[in-house]
Amino acid sequence: MSTHNPQHPQGVIITIDGPAGTGKSTVAHLLAVRLGLEFLDTGAMYRAVALIAIEHDIDPHDGPALAAALQAADLHFDFRTDPPPMMLGDRDVSRRIRESDVSDIVSIAAAHRALRGELVEQQRRVAERHPRLVTEGRDQGSVVFPDAGLRFYLDAELNVRAARRARQLVQAGLRVDRDLIERDIIERDRLDSGRADGPLVRPPGAVEIDTSDHTAEQVVDSLETIAREKLPDAEFKR
Ligand code: C5P
Repeated sequence: MSTHNPQHPQGVIITIDGPAGTGKSTVAHLLAVRLGLEFLDTGAMYRAVALIAIEHDIDPHDGPALAAALQAADLHFDFRTDPPPMMLGDRDVSRRIRESDVSDIVSIAAAHRALRGELVEQQRRVAERHPRLVTEGRDQGSVVFPDAGLRFYLDAELNVRAARRARQLVQAGLRVDRDLIERDIIERDRLDSGRADGPLVRPPGAVEIDTSDHTAEQVVDSLETIAREKLPDAEFKR
């Protein structure tokens, strides 16, 4: 089998990047289940750092303080469960990190070079231990795994993205203000696309898909077909 995961000779990595609310998490997890791969939600890691900032009263603009707090924290995924919950020590923070106080500051925290460097390292270590992986975020196909076997870029119109994010939050039992969600998405896109380190970009060579007019199932159908076509020797689940 050819190498599709630079961290592991027998592995395969599929990256999915795109702006907030394109349905990346849902689609990436469903794709992983269909192909028999594991799933990595890198946004959860940046959100967990934002939560650490809130809980330790650290200014999200203070990169060195955030990087130090991350070093001291036991941030990891529990891969015994699928999708793997985001753990801070023995606390499952998967739900807490979706709340609006975290969303409000996560892109400010995510702009710091030292912090990104550390999380990129952690993501590559995950890919060593879990070599058959669908990973999603903003920089997975551009910075973290530029040699991945297959890279996708998902996009969708703003109003569709805001509606999806609202639905997700309602399903998670959280309170929703539609205008606020749209403003949050616009601001996060601006910060995520504008930062110097690991900005949101369309990785050259990535397969681009506009999900505006498609359900998650339809998008997964397309991604699955493309993955099976482009990686015929990856030994995916049938
Ligand atoms: O995907 P999600 O909306 O949970 O990501 C939250 C934030 O984390 C993004 O808006 C971005 O600022 C940051 N992020 C990042 N790089 C990644 C994944 C997420 O900077 N690979």
